[in-house]
Amino acid sequence: MYEDRGRLAALWETELDVFRAARPASHAEWERAERHMPDGVPMLWMAKWPGPWPVYVESASGAHFTCVDGIDHVDLCLGDTGAMCGHAPAASVAAISAQLARGSTFMLPTEDAAAVAEIMSSRFRVPVWQFSLSATDANRSLIRYARQVTRRPRILVHDYSYHGTVDEAYATLDEHGNVVARRGNIGAPVPLDQTTSVVQFNDVDALERALATREIAAVLIEPALTNIGIVLPEPGYHEAVRELCSRYGTILIIDETHTFSAGPGGMIAELGLEPDAVVLGKSIGGGIPAGAYGMTREFADRVRDSLDLEDIDVGGVGGTLAGNALSLAGIRATLSEVLTPAAFTGMIDRSTEWTAGVQAAIDEFEVPWQVTQLGARSEYSFRATAPRTGREAADADDFELQQYLHLHALNRGLLMTPFHNMALMSPATTAADVERHTVAFREAVVSLYG
Ligand code: PMP
Repeated sequence: MYEDRGRLAALWETELDVFRAARPASHAEWERAERHMPDGVPMLWMAKWPGPWPVYVESASGAHFTCVDGIDHVDLCLGDTGAMCGHAPAASVAAISAQLARGSTFMLPTEDAAAVAEIMSSRFRVPVWQFSLSATDANRSLIRYARQVTRRPRILVHDYSYHGTVDEAYATLDEHGNVVARRGNIGAPVPLDQTTSVVQFNDVDALERALATREIAAVLIEPALTNIGIVLPEPGYHEAVRELCSRYGTILIIDETHTFSAGPGGMIAELGLEPDAVVLGKSIGGGIPAGAYGMTREFADRVRDSLDLEDIDVGGVGGTLAGNALSLAGIRATLSEVLTPAAFTGMIDRSTEWTAGVQAAIDEFEVPWQVTQLGARSEYSFRATAPRTGREAADADDFELQQYLHLHALNRGLLMTPFHNMALMSPATTAADVERHTVAFREAVVSLYG
């Protein structure tokens, strides 16, 4: 906990003044936009930025964007991973534009579909693929499939995980260990303890107790938590998860939407994991809506054998635009030409430099924070040691402090991921971009602890 709240409040006010003075054009956009959109944004979470009004974007390229006030920013948020490939990557733009000119959606496959399924299979260790418009929808579809074939009612998630707007996944544990809706769950459909079991990350015993009930259709997990800071798996955890899911007949779904930052085949390839199903989304389309879910042959066959084509259009797994030609053209170009193994090497090097820059300031001023790197993604948290569970990570949260650090960065032309202290590197991010953050971060630490 940062103790000097008076100092923090004063620093915040100073940064607000800097922001207001520098961004009149964004202010004008916001005034107009507020008339017909809540908080002046097309999706309410775009209002969850530090500062009195949102920054309106003019254009973006690679790791930079320019706002309507003409200010250049290094984008370390990258659309919260949606733009992990960098903004407007040339190969993706060319392929998407060419497909757009040939037609974008047919409810029929194009040649890109088979090529994309081959690439996904070679990277993520499962051989059968389906496509969606988002990671959320991929998760929803797999949960349905898992329930369908296991005929079990419940799913299991980690405490403080996030898997998109999936009703069942909005569960958390209260201080007595009961399953409850997570804070802010909008219009909760049914009590979460009816649909979902929750365990702490890295807690093998709790997982075994939950799975032994044989009520769990699917375990839906990120291989490292990335939505409450980064929480890494302890040695042996994934092996235990795999073994327990097999023993109790539960489908293991690994959601790589964010952890794809670990390498060209995500953590699945890095650690040699063996899921029954895999979810990708956000970045794979090169910036346009695209999601994907892969399955083992065995799981895919069980699903297929349980379905009747006559009912498939309204069976609960679908989406009119899912698997459309435009998305598939985007995925093909992005994976084969932009998010390549060679690109990941550079992205991870930049992330290592970013992490070292943060660590240097923490060490110099003996700040009780820590930083965790996961491939091309890195994040600091307001606690001295790396968290082992989502709960530990959540307990270190300090919203005011985070807002200050983000506004401080924004005023120096650096965009951090709004919901946490995360920075992501694209293939276009340079060492100079990273250095800009290192300098600004040290300055922020000096303002708080110097
Ligand atoms: N899975 C994970 C791990 C995520 O972090 C998110 C979004 N942050 C999603 C799924 C959902 O992605 P989308 O909102 O693009 O559907």
